[in-house]
Amino acid sequence: MDLLIDLPNIQIQDAFEDRSGNYILTVISTEKCTHCHKCGKRIEKSNGYGESIELRHPDILGKQVYLRIRFPRYQCDCDGQPTTTQQVSWFTRRSGFTKAFEQRILLSCVNSTIADVAIKEKVRYELVSGVVDRNIDKAVNWESIEKLDVLGIDEISLKKGHQDFVAIVTGRSDDKIQVFGVSRDRKAVFLKHSQAVTNFCMVRLF
Ligand SMILES: [Zn+2]
Repeated sequence: MDLLIDLPNIQIQDAFEDRSGNYILTVISTEKCTHCHKCGKRIEKSNGYGESIELRHPDILGKQVYLRIRFPRYQCDCDGQPTTTQQVSWFTRRSGFTKAFEQRILLSCVNSTIADVAIKEKVRYELVSGVVDRNIDKAVNWESIEKLDVLGIDEISLKKGHQDFVAIVTGRSDDKIQVFGVSRDRKAVFLKHSQAVTNFCMVRLF
């Protein structure tokens, strides 16, 4: 099971299927530190746990997966001795989803509408558009991309019947598709990333 959820520094403590047929996994973080939200220092002095939260994660064997977790809290010795709840790389605070699930939602948006994705992934419409909004105009870290066969730029409509479009930039290499970013302006995407684009080979425009 730990392998199936594919998240770093996470251990499953309990797993059961609820009445709706969803997998509910109670997990713990095995990382023993975080960075102080005030001074940025690495801190390890334990100070209890945050509230229990439930995060949607990509399906396993066709079942919806929810991770229940209480992130550990740590105390710093800087001014006021503030406490910080652990921040992890695989989850954006207050999103309700793991980043892996957000990627899946964004990928589903390619050649689809937000309303269709909401139905298909069984997620409320506002939550799907929330994922798109959160990812708009986030910088793409081209340096981290080693290999890319095809760069895809697809347009999705944010609201039915409205001329409110965003472009989703995806990359494919070795049959693995990844979302790089979402932009309000597809021409800007192209210009902004033209250096990266010329470094690689094919661009597929919708
Ligand atoms: Zn501090």
